[in-house]
Amino acid sequence: MIEFAWGTATDVGQVRQNNQDQMLTAPPVFVVADGMGGHNGGEVASAIAVDEMAKAQGVASVDDLIDAVQMANREIVDRSKIEPELRGMGTTLVALVGMMVGDRQRIGVANVGDSRLYRATDEELVQLTEDHTLVETLVRDGRLTAEEALTHPQRNIVTRALGIDEKVLVDTWELAPVPGDRFVLCSDGLFDELREPEILEILQREEDPSDAALELVRGAVQAGGRDNVTALVVDVTAADSVDDEIPDDRIVSIHKAVPDSVLRLDPPPETGPNDPHPDEILVDRTIEKPPFVTWRLGLFVAAVLLVLGVLLSSVVAYARSAYFVGIDGEEVVIYRGRPDGVLWFDPTVEEQVVLTVSELDPEDLPDVIEGVEFDELDDARDYAAALTERSLIDDP
Ligand code: MG
Repeated sequence: MIEFAWGTATDVGQVRQNNQDQMLTAPPVFVVADGMGGHNGGEVASAIAVDEMAKAQGVASVDDLIDAVQMANREIVDRSKIEPELRGMGTTLVALVGMMVGDRQRIGVANVGDSRLYRATDEELVQLTEDHTLVETLVRDGRLTAEEALTHPQRNIVTRALGIDEKVLVDTWELAPVPGDRFVLCSDGLFDELREPEILEILQREEDPSDAALELVRGAVQAGGRDNVTALVVDVTAADSVDDEIPDDRIVSIHKAVPDSVLRLDPPPETGPNDPHPDEILVDRTIEKPPFVTWRLGLFVAAVLLVLGVLLSSVVAYARSAYFVGIDGEEVVIYRGRPDGVLWFDPTVEEQVVLTVSELDPEDLPDVIEGVEFDELDDARDYAAALTERSLIDDP
């Protein structure tokens, strides 16, 4: 297997009252998850995410890795169904996993949300993952510059998170492991405070991964610490590189899920040490399902009920709006309704006609057995009177 050395650090920061970031170091699985949602939901969501990812030890492909993330997502969704106070909780997730793909050692990377994975080289800090945020979308569309995105007031609106839908869109990468490579998994509290050159400088200066992680987090907290800060530095210390040519960017393959929906997240309040509403600070980023899902469903159900109601009353009206002359046992009677009934509305006897079947004119008999229909009761009465006229009763 690939061998790793790693170091971690996390801090609640200077403003928030609890730390909703979680990390996992269960080699070959490394994860950072940044929870969101009030009432401790964020902590619960990120804790479930790392617990579930700890089980992803035997990952043998990026598809396995995606499955592991889907399992974690499902666990969070299920939990928030059971505990209503946790409803709306979610978490980001960035994972780095050593895996054997066939007989090749690989590093799998998975990302959902706006935590990041960087690779530090001698020259630069390369952001491998792509943020699933509103501002990132705007940057990609050319509506915002990368520089503007750094300070955009809505930069914390994420477009993907675990715990929201039954399925989550996961981006993955397959990398060739190279001894000496250094990766950083981190929550947004790090790169919101430290610019990339500062992050790179610390990673190059601090050889020990634990020292590097501590320095990164310390730097971000000192720079403002407006959010929880988490850094997990992972070094590749040994790997069998069987590839003849290792790509400069280490990337063997990329799998990017195509987004089909955008989740609207409330931006965090403008926070500072003197924020007058400290309670609001607990709400890191509240995920809300678009409300139209709820009212659209309600509207649909109401429309269906309305249509059913209208249909039912039409059926009743149709079933009950006619009369016919027919037979009831031996008697000729006037029924209200339709001869064969309509659905479960059977005709009912409206009036007796003083006439028996045996007294009917034989020529009238087939019609009466079948039932002779009229729209109005009076017409049915007239017909019954005519039957009586023609009947054998009047025969001398
Ligand atoms: Mg955060």
